[in-house]
Amino acid sequence: MILVTEKCKNCGLCVKNCPVNALCLENKQLQVKNICVQCGVCIRVCPREGISRTDEKPENAVICSNCPVQCRIIPGATGACKRFLNVDGELRRTIEHVLEPKAGILPEEKIRRPIITAVGGGSNYPCSLPAPHIVRENRDGVDVITVVTEAPLSYSGVTVKLDTNTYIGEEGDKVYRDGKVIGMVTTEEYGSKMLSIGGANRLTSDGGFITARTIVELANGQEVEVSVDKKYKIIMQAGKAPIINGVQEKKMRIGCGSATVGLFAALMKECVDECIVIDHHVIGLVTEHLAGAAVGLNWSGVIPNAAKSSRGRYFGEHGGGIGGTTLMSCREAIKGVDRSVARPGIRILVVNTTGEIYALFELQPGYEIQEIPMTEQALRVPRAINETCEESRCSVMYIGGTGGSARGGVCKKPLAITQAVHSGKAVLTIGGAPVYILPGGGINFIVDTEQVVANGFSWVPTPATVAPVEYTMRLSDYEFIEGHVDQVKDAAILKQ
Ligand code: SF4
Ligand code: SF4
Repeated sequence: MILVTEKCKNCGLCVKNCPVNALCLENKQLQVKNICVQCGVCIRVCPREGISRTDEKPENAVICSNCPVQCRIIPGATGACKRFLNVDGELRRTIEHVLEPKAGILPEEKIRRPIITAVGGGSNYPCSLPAPHIVRENRDGVDVITVVTEAPLSYSGVTVKLDTNTYIGEEGDKVYRDGKVIGMVTTEEYGSKMLSIGGANRLTSDGGFITARTIVELANGQEVEVSVDKKYKIIMQAGKAPIINGVQEKKMRIGCGSATVGLFAALMKECVDECIVIDHHVIGLVTEHLAGAAVGLNWSGVIPNAAKSSRGRYFGEHGGGIGGTTLMSCREAIKGVDRSVARPGIRILVVNTTGEIYALFELQPGYEIQEIPMTEQALRVPRAINETCEESRCSVMYIGGTGGSARGGVCKKPLAITQAVHSGKAVLTIGGAPVYILPGGGINFIVDTEQVVANGFSWVPTPATVAPVEYTMRLSDYEFIEGHVDQVKDAAILKQ
């Protein structure tokens, strides 16, 4: 049940945020309707504890177990996400199961690989001149051409994916090299921190030259040292583990603490009485977690040192401690125990999400929590986590735009080559590597630099980075976009 407390000032903030419109102001007084699913959004948005919750379940409500929120849904109502509807006591998905995917665009096999790469092929400048090489090859009876040029791209940069839990600052923090800003920390991805380096605005700033050099060095697989906010030193190189503040990363985290509990709840049950998995995103508590309940566990009474999000899932704070949290030791992860539930003698394992840091504790008769030596049984959990982790590495993705003047070397109808790329009639590759074309206008692409042929990238001091660009298509389609057909030569001449 959701209850309005005496601290409520009837400000209406929760009314705006309730996902199922279960709150309203009647005569300027906050009211809770019976369609409330007890999702807790209102409790989290209220700045003054104006709402509290009891565990009471409304009559006829069904508890949804499709996510940790566990909505209590009365007949005829939906849960907070609107995905599940209570139909006469049974939860049903609110849309039909769609079995057929969209057709999508997949270029034909014959044009997916370039005849030659652009690496070392030279540039055309000014861009209105034909590309330096336009070659033809017959593939299974079809004439195919590849246009290649090493194109200076002002709109370019790299996104570096660092497989690490280690704290490197917050999203939006600046990345420096040689005292110049060259990029920023961008949104974190599963198991990885991401840096965005370069882009047109950085390339034209006073740090433009060092930015261009950094993009190219990283894209060509060289080692580069940068700092975030001039505090956290990062040495990175495509394919190698990052070195952060002098420490080489070893393992990429298996997932957040909740995911780790989800994967290993059964093993944790076999080995210990309780397990806390420390992580900067979600700290997991196995006996309270739904995954623990699924293997027959009941809450042990242990309380983690973090803010509760949902069952068995807690939010820690970001910092330089274990797993990117502010917890500097395993002991700090245990806030205490609920004495009405906890049983003296229980063993509590605290572990991080790579299984590299762990400690075992025992609840004493006087309810003190004491560290004890790891047992072989308890060690099975961190070992299993560690063995399931991938090796930590850096990955470098080059992002560029060739939808501007660089099209002039391809054909006389620039819009037509853009449309040909988006419709799958022409295939763009970078140094022979497949790319992902961003939807919408332009020819903006992302390429995994480890798939590009060696030393494919360079830079010019305009400044801009130079990418090896290849377009491959049927000769008939090249004629249609008014390509420089008179420049086409037989690929065999170059390959001799
Ligand atoms: S608990 Fe969720 S559904 Fe209930 S009133 Fe609050 S926000 Fe709305
Ligand atoms: S899946 Fe949706 S309806 Fe079910 S508990 Fe989660 S938010 Fe509620």
